[in-house]
Amino acid sequence: MASCDLRKTRIIATLGPASREPEIIQAMHEAGADVFRINMSHGDRQAQTQLIRNVRKVEEAVDRPIAIMADLQGPKIRLGKFKGGSAELQDGAAFTLDSSDKPGSAKRVNLPHVEVFKALKVGDQVLLDDGRLHLEVEKAGPEKAECRITLGGTLSDHKGVNVPGVFLPLAALTEKDRRDLDFALSEGVDWVALSFVQRPADVAEARKLIQGRAGVLAKIEKPSALAHLDQILEMADAAMVARGDLGVEMNVEDVPSIQREIIKKARQLGKPVVVATQMLETMVTSQVPTRAEVSDVANAVYQGADAVMLSAETAIGKHPVETVRVMDKVARQAERDPYYLADEPAAAALLSGTAEDAITAAARLVTGNIKAAAIVTFTTSGSTALRAARERPEAPVLALTPNLDVARKLCLVWGLQTLKTEDVTSFEEMIGKARRMALKQGLAGPGERIVITAGVPFGTPGSTNALHIAWITGDELRKDKL
Ligand code: PGA
Ligand code: MN
Repeated sequence: MASCDLRKTRIIATLGPASREPEIIQAMHEAGADVFRINMSHGDRQAQTQLIRNVRKVEEAVDRPIAIMADLQGPKIRLGKFKGGSAELQDGAAFTLDSSDKPGSAKRVNLPHVEVFKALKVGDQVLLDDGRLHLEVEKAGPEKAECRITLGGTLSDHKGVNVPGVFLPLAALTEKDRRDLDFALSEGVDWVALSFVQRPADVAEARKLIQGRAGVLAKIEKPSALAHLDQILEMADAAMVARGDLGVEMNVEDVPSIQREIIKKARQLGKPVVVATQMLETMVTSQVPTRAEVSDVANAVYQGADAVMLSAETAIGKHPVETVRVMDKVARQAERDPYYLADEPAAAALLSGTAEDAITAAARLVTGNIKAAAIVTFTTSGSTALRAARERPEAPVLALTPNLDVARKLCLVWGLQTLKTEDVTSFEEMIGKARRMALKQGLAGPGERIVITAGVPFGTPGSTNALHIAWITGDELRKDKL
């Protein structure tokens, strides 16, 4: 049966110089990428525009909705420049971060963020270049911090700075973020990822600017975000376990359990959750992944993540298409495990008491009971489809929506096959369409049943109140039936 071959966990592939051509993007999509991410920290406007348009070209060619995620840089702190581009920092030597924009040396460098100086205290740790170099603050002033180098190394221009555990009074969106956001929305991206979220108000601020034009994904990569995790998840449409910065901001050994916590909480709220960073890192250069990487991808799948993400692997790696292929194979195999999602809480435990929740929970039960081949859900805003996915049913879910933006957005969500269709106006029409689409998509064959959920009257968002069981006869695609 075709449905057994469908992967439920979604794959996000970051685009970059290694994957900018439409042919590569299409090959990545065919290999299994459902969502393409554009990292707004890199590339100029022209390159970013090209990437977005190339994805849309592929979308047209393959005739399936594809989601695009614009990942804003956020208030990432970076050093200034060095004389000659870099400096060697010696263990035990003194090193000052200051407000002078003169090129840096082995003794000092510019840190163009006065807020950071105000927040630093004696004894605080400052981590540079993704935590490769460490400083300890010995003297803190309003315009500089005199430090001791506790872990030296080579430091080059514009490297990132992390001050773990220190709350920085930074705006959630920088000027650059606001410009990037305007651009991304004008290009019609489907998801906006917010970096370095610290508090729920950061998400609220972005929501206000975005005004429903794209889904809002909160990247969890700061201890302060973890401290407000519940509220941030409530406020956002989706979340990401951003393990790159998390592993610098926290102890790296804390990351695995934080990952489980974020996935669990997001799942309870029915918000899509993404596991990101270094998932198949060695494939940036190697043709094959390490055993540990394969286990890591499989574990994210076992934990019930909606999506797993590739970053450098597909943006600048040597084998972008092959990496997606590997991720696809690993995810499929993990989903075949008989214990996959076996520990999920019963659907009833997740119910919030709305008709929509009750119908979608019932759809899962009915589907399991009668061994239906698929669930077909008609969704206007996408919320019924999200709820169906939250139930993590065994059967595939076909989400039909008249709204292309919704169809694209849902590409991030576990277990959904989304298609844009014409709206239906009657119950009979709806059932006919559900049967036709399920058959056409290979989700159900003659002699199998499908379970349909919808809201009557049609086209009213949030009105899901009907559940219907229909047989597939095989006649659905006959001309006189259309
Ligand atoms: P980044 O976010 O790749 O934009 O830094 C992901 C992470 O930090 O893991
Ligand atoms: Mn990050």
